[in-house]
Amino acid sequence: MKEVPLSGEIIRSEERFRAFVLASSDVVYQMSPDWSEMRHLWGKYFIADTTEATKGWIEKYILPEDRPFVMAAIQRAIETKSVFELEHRVIRVDGTVGWTFSRAIPICDANGEIQEWFGAASDITERKRAEEALLRANQDLEEFAYATTHDLQEPARTIRLFSDWLAKKYAASLDGQALDTLQLLAGCASRMETLIQDLFAYTQAGRSTRVTQRTEATACLKTAIRNLSASIKETEGTVTFDPLPSVKIQRTRLEQVFQNLIGNALKYRRPQVPPVVHVSARVEDGVAHFIVADNGIGIEEQYREHIFGLFKRLHGSGAYSGTGIGLSLCRRIIERNHGQIWVESKVGEGSRFHFTVPV
Ligand code: ADP
Repeated sequence: MKEVPLSGEIIRSEERFRAFVLASSDVVYQMSPDWSEMRHLWGKYFIADTTEATKGWIEKYILPEDRPFVMAAIQRAIETKSVFELEHRVIRVDGTVGWTFSRAIPICDANGEIQEWFGAASDITERKRAEEALLRANQDLEEFAYATTHDLQEPARTIRLFSDWLAKKYAASLDGQALDTLQLLAGCASRMETLIQDLFAYTQAGRSTRVTQRTEATACLKTAIRNLSASIKETEGTVTFDPLPSVKIQRTRLEQVFQNLIGNALKYRRPQVPPVVHVSARVEDGVAHFIVADNGIGIEEQYREHIFGLFKRLHGSGAYSGTGIGLSLCRRIIERNHGQIWVESKVGEGSRFHFTVPV
């Protein structure tokens, strides 16, 4: 075929394209329609040391154990004629293994047939290393917190039991100041025990558990209500609920979420107004959306995100008892189960805690 001389406009366009590629820290590539051949490679060659067309690119650049999932992602993009996007490992020019984020788009002809693919790959090795180091550090920290809170439970319980026992046994023989001190000690030990138990529950919620079965949300709610029956009675509260769906979450975790949200609804009630709590849910697009609504004191707008943080409380322990762990525990459980949790509220009228869980 006779070579057609390039016009000035095409040359300028080609120059601009090269300038873009060289200015970027990415590699730009061109693939055959079925990706069997890498037709060209431009840019900073962190991945490859050639611009030559190469048929064996997958063997050359992708680790054997990663090839099936890289090929599967490519196949999916070819079948759906849609954008290919993947983070995967690559063998770099210097022989070391790195990470890349690769994104390619299909170029189709007038009949919609793929003619070629154009893509760009960034070197994300440093980011991946930092992420892995962070993950390891977090896991170590979680293990540490789990082990310490677990081991602290028993001594805290012993201190509470013995200080209670001392206060009762020697109530008659101790002077007022000694008795007050002992009661203070018992109170502190009891708060410490609650705090340790709550922290232990928080660390436990971070440990991964594979969910293989669905859980009846109604059964979890009934357990939570049973566990809270003393508070419901004491506050003259009412807890009602609509039919609830089955969801993909561990039973004990959903019970903890309900128990914390309803427990809070009973605790943060308006003075002289018996708490009324209603739990409802609807399922949409494979996700169950739960609402726990109360008629309590409500939460000011600027604190609606803040309250989900660890140890974040809006009141001193004098006004309402608590450790500030309940809502952060709920958030942790829900997020570990691929859901979200948030609150809407009107100060003085009540709050509606929303959370989602896959069905
Ligand atoms: P705790 O109840 O132990 O303080 P939580 O993490 O459960 O800790 O809640 C954090 C804070 O959010 C509470 O201290 C309270 O100020 C606020 N809060 C939680 N639930 C409600 C509610 N239903 N109504 C009003 N305020 C609430």
